[in-house]
Amino acid sequence: MPGPPNGPTPPDGSPLRPDSLVVAGGRPHEAGDPINRPVSFNSTYRTGGRLAYAREGNPTWAAFEEVLGALEGGSCLAFASGMAAAAALLETLPAEARIAVSGVAYHGLGELVRDRAAAGRLRPEFVDAADLDEIASGCDGAALLWLETPTNPLMGIVDIAAAARIAHERGALVVVDNTFATPLRQRPLALGADVVLHSATKFLGGHADLLLGALVSANGEALERIERRRVVDGSVPGVMEAFLALRGVRTLAVRLDRGERNAAELARRLAGHPAVERVRYPGLPDDPGHRLAAEQMSGFGAMLAFETVGDAAAADRVCDEVRLINHATSLGGVESLLERRARYPTEVRAGTPPTLLRLSAGIENVEDLWADLDRALAEATA
Ligand SMILES: *Cc1c(COP(=O)(O)O)cnc(C)c1O
Repeated sequence: MPGPPNGPTPPDGSPLRPDSLVVAGGRPHEAGDPINRPVSFNSTYRTGGRLAYAREGNPTWAAFEEVLGALEGGSCLAFASGMAAAAALLETLPAEARIAVSGVAYHGLGELVRDRAAAGRLRPEFVDAADLDEIASGCDGAALLWLETPTNPLMGIVDIAAAARIAHERGALVVVDNTFATPLRQRPLALGADVVLHSATKFLGGHADLLLGALVSANGEALERIERRRVVDGSVPGVMEAFLALRGVRTLAVRLDRGERNAAELARRLAGHPAVERVRYPGLPDDPGHRLAAEQMSGFGAMLAFETVGDAAAADRVCDEVRLINHATSLGGVESLLERRARYPTEVRAGTPPTLLRLSAGIENVEDLWADLDRALAEATA
């Protein structure tokens, strides 16, 4: 069962601020209790309690779920990965349900949806989520609208409140993939979304050492259907992963502050670099998503993307030349990661520019990061 929607409260009854909640949530509170929830390696439970078998629940998952649920303003269910969470949500839909899906989103989601469409399971329509008219026509007769903002990897910003209004008028539920922003920068449920998805593999875990996913909602009916899928389909998280993810969440606020400062500074410097054609970071005042991001987010996050001058081979050379920054896929860890996204055929199909490099800003010293990037750009374009 999902944890309670609220975390611990201080003696005066006021709710904890999010950067306290990440530290204080999900802990035992009785005298003599350990400070951390014990890691519960168990496949079964003695008969007579709420849980009978490990696929139904685990106290270590519950600690992670309590914190993420409280941060997002709903109840949380953890899954084996972000993709397992996405698949579970899709499996709650009736056969041949119509869904509207943002055309720019995590490429794995496109594969998940297209596989189901090919099998006749779902009828997806891919929409430009920046265009509210397209959202409206996509949501006609749809059971679900799938959004991501900022988008991966183009860093586009989608108006969650406006999209949710349009979807709800047409009877569609709204899911927002909040992986890039994290609940410390954006709270989709408060903006009108029905379900939030996380790849906890990224910022929540924060150390590139685990796979975990989660869905959060305040809609009891939706939660029941989602939980049923987790129990029956068995897409449950590992106990160790849930423990490590909560350990990561404890430092999310400070990691994100630092990564975001680094991203903002790197974006500013890249925008003035002769080897860079375009920078995509919603924190830049002239970014097309800046105004909207400033409204619906409390910070612009630690992800950015930029296009280099020249061809894809030159962009690949930048990835080969970096030393401190790691040339690897994924994002959201303490270590900076750089990748040319159009190296994947699925990204080319989605329209990702060939020279676009996605940078996940880690928590290293920004001068070292800049020296590395500046040298790599110079050598790659020499
Ligand atoms: C990585 C990612 C996913 C998929 O999550 P996994 O944990 O890798 O299964 C979904 N959405 C976004 C935005 C991601 O970055």
